[in-house]
Amino acid sequence: MGWQVGDLLDAMGVRDRARLVTPAELPRGTGGAGAAFKPETPMQVVTNPATGEALAGVRLDDGESCERAIAGSAEAFVKWRAVPAPVRGQVVRAIGDEFRKHKAALGRLISLEVGKIAAEGQGEVQEVVDIADFAVGLSRQLHGLTMPSERPEHRIMEQWLPLGPVGVISAFNFPCAVWGWNAMLAAVCGDSVLWKPSLLAPLTAIASNAMADRVATGMGHPGVFGLVMGDDEQVGERLIADRRLALISATGSCRMGRRVGEVVARRLGRSLLELGGNNAAIVEPDADLDVAIKSIVFGAVGTAGQRCTTTRRLIVHRSIAEDVIGRLARAYATIKIGDPLGEGVLVGPLISARAVEQFLAAVGAAKSQGGTIVAGGGRAGGEQTHPKGLRGHFAQPTIIRAPASNELAIAKEETFAPILYVFAYSHLDEAIAMNNGVDQGLSSAIFTGGVRSSERFLDPSGAGSDCGLAYVNLGTSGAEIGGAFGGEKDTGGGRESGSDSWKAYMRRQTCTIGFGKTVTLAQGIRFE
Ligand code: NAD
Repeated sequence: MGWQVGDLLDAMGVRDRARLVTPAELPRGTGGAGAAFKPETPMQVVTNPATGEALAGVRLDDGESCERAIAGSAEAFVKWRAVPAPVRGQVVRAIGDEFRKHKAALGRLISLEVGKIAAEGQGEVQEVVDIADFAVGLSRQLHGLTMPSERPEHRIMEQWLPLGPVGVISAFNFPCAVWGWNAMLAAVCGDSVLWKPSLLAPLTAIASNAMADRVATGMGHPGVFGLVMGDDEQVGERLIADRRLALISATGSCRMGRRVGEVVARRLGRSLLELGGNNAAIVEPDADLDVAIKSIVFGAVGTAGQRCTTTRRLIVHRSIAEDVIGRLARAYATIKIGDPLGEGVLVGPLISARAVEQFLAAVGAAKSQGGTIVAGGGRAGGEQTHPKGLRGHFAQPTIIRAPASNELAIAKEETFAPILYVFAYSHLDEAIAMNNGVDQGLSSAIFTGGVRSSERFLDPSGAGSDCGLAYVNLGTSGAEIGGAFGGEKDTGGGRESGSDSWKAYMRRQTCTIGFGKTVTLAQGIRFE
């Protein structure tokens, strides 16, 4: 058998292998066959989470190469910002076309590297295509306001200007979409992009960045899309502390966001934080349960519970709790776990052995806190449950019912695994308070047939859901790129993707122009 990753990179026209080490060259003990291989630079071995097999080794950056990458990005920015925005849009259009063309191969690489099922791997590439389309339109709409001056013969207007090189830090679970959201907008805004992906997903990053860079360079704009890889101390910390990077857009855990927010604030830079979620869905007695159950199952087990928007808490009206839990348990029993590229598989592996340990620890904590297991609860690794022939990191999609008191401390934390905690409520106000009663504030949903309940949930006074995303009769995950994406509280407050999120990637200048022959001061001040 050939080298799968190499074949996929070939299919995408990615020829540069300077960073890559084939599995055959990797030392034994890291999953490879080569006995005496000694990497001259630090290296990350990437394994397939479904099989545990080594996919490739990736050579990492050190301080020096990281410095070169930052300097290169700063240099590229000065040239790129001078290109008219609609012309920048044409470059982004061509990049979108490239991702369209290579959707199948890149989607497959995502499945191999992070274990997403085929449809979700492809869907992730589609997000890059969609945001590129969005950004092309935006490239002709980066407009400011004009406002009347209090002085005669004066005009006030604002213009939006390119901001500077943008550092993009991404999480493993969206190995190219999150970069796409940032990079396509930043590019039409006139910013260069320097990407530091997760070390759990460097192969998707190498392929994605190579495609974007190949297109941009081919159109005369080298250096706009840069890539650095390395551990957080060597490379991550260097990036966030560097004043040349005007904006750090960081996606990942709340722990990471606290650190990035602090370091960037210390240098008075800008940060855009997209952090953890702990998302709930409320089910009212008048909900269409067919719609609700389907949406909740996708929200809770899609991407094996490894989405920031995964449904982690179900808040169901007491009168229908037994019915809803019974239906969910029956649906869970039909879910096929296994090879993410296998036919009919809905749930792939978790990203690592550590993630499975964290899943088991959360299940254990829930039990000791009075929770009752309704479905799953274990490693999908026993004789009966382990997907056939696979030695990867599988966990069973799990439903845990909270005790009657609704006290379940572990449910306040985000465990990045398919665990759904179920709570019962009597009044909608109580359900909304439970929805809001966690530190994170990313996504939320209500299932109801009644306008009163849905409007209470979206209350314009702000008394409803306190999350950045609020859905009615839809699950908590699966956002479209047209809206602004992000969340409040410990989720970090950042907004990416659609609506006016582009403003984070530009700087605003208020311009006041006098065209008369006398000097008039504002506020009526006379200075004669
Ligand atoms: P993580 O926090 O472990 O890592 C995320 C990224 O931050 C990685 O690239 C990592 O190398 C980098 N990083 C960590 N410490 C750093 C430092 N000191 N300096 C610079 N970079 C640093 O997260 P993960 O496990 O990869 O992803 C899962 C988490 O991401 C979950 O909490 C999930 O909810 C969150 N997430 C949020 C969103 C969102 O849009 N809100 C989207 C996807 C994932």
